[in-house]
Amino acid sequence: MKEILQDFSRGELSGVVERLGEKKFRAEQIYIGLMQGKKISGLNVPSALRAALSERFEEEPVRIEKTFVSKEDGTKKYLFRLSDGNLVEGVLMKYKYGNTQCVSTQVGCRMGCKFCASTLGGKIRDLTAGEILCQILAVNRSEGGSLKERAVTNVVLMGSGEPFDNYENVVRFLRNVTAEGGIAIGARNISLSTCGLVPEMRKFAQEGIPLNLTVSLHATTDEERARTMPIAKRYRICEILDACAYYFEQTGRRYIFEYTLISGENADEAHAEALAGLLKGKPCHVNLIRLNAVKERSLRAADERDARKFLQVLERQGISATLRRSMGSDIGGACGQLRASYMESCADDVE
Ligand code: SAH
Repeated sequence: MKEILQDFSRGELSGVVERLGEKKFRAEQIYIGLMQGKKISGLNVPSALRAALSERFEEEPVRIEKTFVSKEDGTKKYLFRLSDGNLVEGVLMKYKYGNTQCVSTQVGCRMGCKFCASTLGGKIRDLTAGEILCQILAVNRSEGGSLKERAVTNVVLMGSGEPFDNYENVVRFLRNVTAEGGIAIGARNISLSTCGLVPEMRKFAQEGIPLNLTVSLHATTDEERARTMPIAKRYRICEILDACAYYFEQTGRRYIFEYTLISGENADEAHAEALAGLLKGKPCHVNLIRLNAVKERSLRAADERDARKFLQVLERQGISATLRRSMGSDIGGACGQLRASYMESCADDVE
């Protein structure tokens, strides 16, 4: 693979362009063009410069390979093709307040959560900062957005991969996606979800990027958590809660827990009481979501009634919580499901 221009910050891009022997103002033109989601061949610069750039850099690091639109709610699911042929997926969810794009941070994942499709084939590789950014730039462009009128207003790092298992690239991406003059999505409009890598959570608290830190909890005891999340053997829930408290201390941002409701596993009233006990008085919010069942796994979703009861228990105990709709379930809305099924359906194509 060649280098990726979108890996660079605006300042670094200036240096790149200068090293090519070009005037500085060209860097600005290139930067704006890239942020608008253009390929190198579509940049509004002299053809000799375009040629010099394409010799060294990837023409289009992330290409929209396929788009699936949910008939239920207009959610769009994207399959992106990377320069080396790998596939990752993303989702665009349309809400009243704006459009939220879910991006991937790795091809596959090595965390091994039992309910998650991203992890079925393990981790293939990390994405670079530019490859994460390009998912957003490509979707913003294809949805008719610009830098002034963005079609993507919010971002969640909840696609394939564990963001904190790709720490440096993810932090670089976050600096570039929030930078003024670019696509400039504010940290407050970004959520990063982690399975709870404690050292990285603590390190991240000091990066000065006050985004919404989201932790996938899915259980109330370490033993139960370890049944579906292997990472629970490395970090205990109490260590995760301490790291969350530290994040709040450093950033003033309350944090969020994801809790996927799995029938017979973590969704009883007793679990709800235990969760409330664990989180009582903490500056946090709980997002409940019913499992989006993955066909390769035997786990089943909790039913609607149990999910609502779970929510009521939390609310009664004074815990801020929402039961989220599972969006785009007709198009393989959950992590890794689309990539997995697509790769299965055209295995020859992607090998
Ligand atoms: N690795 C990160 C981010 C990716 S997963 C993390 O673990 O948080 C994003 C969220 O989707 C996590 O909360 C994850 O537990 C959840 N998730 C994964 N597969 C799911 C499924 N089949 N149904 C419901 N939620 C799922």
